[in-house]
Amino acid sequence: MEHSGRGKASSAPRFPDSPIPRFLSPSSPRPQPPVTPGGVSPVATQVGDLFLSPTVQTVQSLEELRAEIGDCRRCKLCQGRTKIVFGVGNPRAELVFVGEGPGRDEDLKGEPFVGRAGQLLTEIITKGMKMRREDVYIANVVKCRPPENRNPEPDEIAACEPFLVKQLDLIKPRIIVALGTFAAQTLLKSKTPISRLRGVWHTYQGIKLMPTLHPAYLLRNPNDKRLVWQDIQAVLREMGRL
Ligand code: URA
Repeated sequence: MEHSGRGKASSAPRFPDSPIPRFLSPSSPRPQPPVTPGGVSPVATQVGDLFLSPTVQTVQSLEELRAEIGDCRRCKLCQGRTKIVFGVGNPRAELVFVGEGPGRDEDLKGEPFVGRAGQLLTEIITKGMKMRREDVYIANVVKCRPPENRNPEPDEIAACEPFLVKQLDLIKPRIIVALGTFAAQTLLKSKTPISRLRGVWHTYQGIKLMPTLHPAYLLRNPNDKRLVWQDIQAVLREMGRL
């Protein structure tokens, strides 16, 4: 899957070393060539009209927001999707993970991060952070699967972003972890590569945001798992769990 976090990750650790949990150890010691982000920047150039839509603005709960999305036809991703993947987890979560968009497994199930990358994210949450998946909230920038798992396009991000904005506004987490290029660049309105954004704290609407590499990238580049472990440890420290 051509997923975010594809830029070359910095090799300089920014946090003190501590043992990497076994599931985050590189399963293959073979170095992988970095995959460079190509073409279009994921940053939406304009936020869709929905951002200004009074209906989206006035919804009071995640259920109402999901109802507002309905059988969405607001962008071309509707043509190939099976299910809209709205988000899952604790509506009052202290911690929210934001990914890029559903893949095949997520499209079929209607739940984010349930495929191979999702299994790795679940291990990060359960084994690495010692939390339950249902304690956090997990959402994506786009709610429908891009065809062949291609990158979401700017107009698709613009059409869907207001729903992510409203999800975060309703949940009011203390911390957001942005998984990969598209989540980090969309939320931070930045074009900086994920390799430079990751590992340091940013702010989104007054909420602390830690960008890190996307789990799908880690499946292809297991040697970079240690960087994600550093980022996750920073999150745990901020949550008082380390
Ligand atoms: N990758 C994502 O960014 N989101 C998902 O839900 C699954 C894979």
